[in-house]
Amino acid sequence: MASKLIYTTDRGLYCEAGDFYIDPWRPVERAVITHAHSDHARWGSRNYLCADPGAKVLRHRVGNEGEIQGVPYGQPVSINDTTVSFHPAGHILGSAQVRVERKGEVWAVSGDYKLDEDPTCAPWEPVKCHTFITESTFGLPIYTWSSNEDLFTDINTWWEKNKRDGKSSLLLAYALGKAQRLMMGVDTSIGPIYTHGAVATMNQIYDNSGVKLPRSTRLSTMPKGTKYAGALILAPPSAYGTPWQRQLNPVSAAFASGWMRVRGIRRRRSLDKGFPVSDHCDWPSLLKAVQLTGAENILVTHGYSQILVRYLRDQGLNADTLSTQFEGEESDGSSEVHE
Ligand SMILES: [Zn+2]
Ligand SMILES: [Zn+2]
Repeated sequence: MASKLIYTTDRGLYCEAGDFYIDPWRPVERAVITHAHSDHARWGSRNYLCADPGAKVLRHRVGNEGEIQGVPYGQPVSINDTTVSFHPAGHILGSAQVRVERKGEVWAVSGDYKLDEDPTCAPWEPVKCHTFITESTFGLPIYTWSSNEDLFTDINTWWEKNKRDGKSSLLLAYALGKAQRLMMGVDTSIGPIYTHGAVATMNQIYDNSGVKLPRSTRLSTMPKGTKYAGALILAPPSAYGTPWQRQLNPVSAAFASGWMRVRGIRRRRSLDKGFPVSDHCDWPSLLKAVQLTGAENILVTHGYSQILVRYLRDQGLNADTLSTQFEGEESDGSSEVHE
């Protein structure tokens, strides 16, 4: 490889030929953003460029400072000596892979992504490139997700059983992305849906961005003493075990997270139920994605990067780790990163 088109600096992933950063972790002049989760979209930069459908979520994330320019998926933008375009990453609303081209050399920075269907965002598309930068949050062969059909059958069955038992169903999920995806998939004929404020705020932004979610009510607007038996309540993981949760009693609590694939984690948190579902790739999807890009160079960031690198090298690819400050899905749910 000649001089690298994109490399890591103390401020983040930098493209010198274009003089911009991708998902910088410190304020910069020009930030190109893959998506609005807080480990990728930080406040304080002067100019932000993102995929158009994610502009409103990004505004919410970074606050009022800084210019935000949304670009439709697939539309090329010239930045100095490079051509940049955004391509759906299938992760959350507006999430994108950033394609950077300079004199025929193409790199793709995938941010966070998944291949599974999600009606709240545009589906992942392979970006043909020479160098592919991928995450590896769930880059271990034990991580495989069930189909949406099986997942939602499980969630609906749990909800119905709680209803029969006179309990409310508290479903803990990241407020940005996961909560909306779950709301879209559940059987709304079972009962009413209520939301924690953090989820309600994001739902409003999704609504403003044109994503039609099923009807739900912000829990805080309900009169004191309301009974929630039979209802489904969407809340961020940080709400678990707090005084807020008491109003839902008797309650069955479930956490929707890729980490629920590992039983011990659910047991340690004394949850009633865990649904293994993630907005990140499982192991088979990571391998499939890498293959579909046709890239000969793979740079692996956050997650089980060493393991994925070793596997890809065995497949004859030039794979290496790339150290970044991005974070995966938090196993204890305490982090606000993917809220
Ligand atoms: Zn993310
Ligand atoms: Zn991330």
